[in-house]
Amino acid sequence: MLEITVFGASDSVGKSCVMISDRDNRVLLDAGIQLHPRRTGLLSTPPEGVDKFSSDLAAVLLSHAHIDHSAYIPALFRADYQGLVHMTSPTRDIVDILWKDHLKIEGPHHFGISHLHKALDKSVLHEYNRKFRISDGITAEFHDASHVLGSAAILLDWEGTRIFYTGDFNNAKTPFHDPIVYPDPDEPIDILLTETTNANRRISSRKVTTSNLTKSLLKCYARGGKAIIPSFALGRSQEIQAYLTSEFDSFLPKFPLYIDGMILDMNEIYKKFLNRKWVSPRILMELKDRGYRSPFDHEGLKTIDEVSFTGRRGKKREKLASQNEVSIILTTSGMLEGGPVYDYLRFGGGNPLNGLYVVGYQVEGTLGSEIVSGNKEISLSNGFGDVFDVTLALEVKRFDFSGHSSLEGLIQMVQYSSPSLIYAIHGEPEAQQAYSQALEEIGHEAITLSQYEVLPEYP
Ligand SMILES: [Zn+2]
Ligand SMILES: [Zn+2]
Repeated sequence: MLEITVFGASDSVGKSCVMISDRDNRVLLDAGIQLHPRRTGLLSTPPEGVDKFSSDLAAVLLSHAHIDHSAYIPALFRADYQGLVHMTSPTRDIVDILWKDHLKIEGPHHFGISHLHKALDKSVLHEYNRKFRISDGITAEFHDASHVLGSAAILLDWEGTRIFYTGDFNNAKTPFHDPIVYPDPDEPIDILLTETTNANRRISSRKVTTSNLTKSLLKCYARGGKAIIPSFALGRSQEIQAYLTSEFDSFLPKFPLYIDGMILDMNEIYKKFLNRKWVSPRILMELKDRGYRSPFDHEGLKTIDEVSFTGRRGKKREKLASQNEVSIILTTSGMLEGGPVYDYLRFGGGNPLNGLYVVGYQVEGTLGSEIVSGNKEISLSNGFGDVFDVTLALEVKRFDFSGHSSLEGLIQMVQYSSPSLIYAIHGEPEAQQAYSQALEEIGHEAITLSQYEVLPEYP
């Protein structure tokens, strides 16, 4: 008799946390926190109710490093969890940085540095497609989810019941990843727990999106401006760098690409895992043909520390943003919730020759969403109590990149794995509704949940 408990992200995106249990064992899949827009002044919220099970868990499995899937794991150790945390090798390197950064920003709200170290010490690293033991009668296997470096969908074999937790997955071909490989139809899944983020949203193809970005960048170059691209440090930034160093190969030395913020740390991790185990053979072959070890070694790409101006990073940013040279500046944060992009906007946002090219989804209430919806009068805070009011005059555009599967991909997942039970999680209610409707048309039923629901027993 199996029970599934969802502590977060049952009908939303953020703080993913699911527990599978029977009489003898409890296994936790992800433990994320939910971040709130900076202006609300709210600290992040934890998955509700998981603490009381933490001393009693057989294992924790982490699908990928994003904060809303991973950052509550150290807090489980504060709540007396003693067991292991299974994850892929790249995920371990990435959470090391993201968790420490989170602790720096928010303080010991959910956990302290000792809990963070304990969570890292207790991590067990796995490759894709290798079965490992969780407990008597329970095994697990990570499958490449194509979402970010090291991201995994998790297949649990629970005394013969096959449970597939998709985590976040992508069915699009991106520079570093091939589309997700669906579970083998010859070995059907019993229970599917799937993300539904984009079920109610049309996603343009990568080809269309990147060609639109190219056009805007070329126009920006032609008018002598600087293209500021705010981006998520993990995944999207590396995709944009791979794309630009390939598409703008011989052009980049004239239109240099500057990289700033946590993107630089993530680049190092991508370099470390730039092999067939973790990225698509496509990019490895392309790099080899062009004589590069990684996209980040391109001569047209410069880190903020390689900029020729002297002075601290803040001074360099001011000069980069105010000088006459045309350039592309790729920097954090992706939703304009802080980070070096504030300096670039402060010194470059008033220049109508420049462009702000947004390459990620913008959550309602963030500064990014406000700017994209047309607000020109913005306030930027440098984190030291200073607030700078800026009137934006630069061109603002959003490009439709997504790290999540399209509705077609979500449906294909079901067609390939033929699950007998489907739980729709990790999506807003409208997305889950769209998902249920689309599944009905192919004769499947999706169970949608309200927050923190304990599901009926299975079988
Ligand atoms: Zn994610
Ligand atoms: Zn997610």
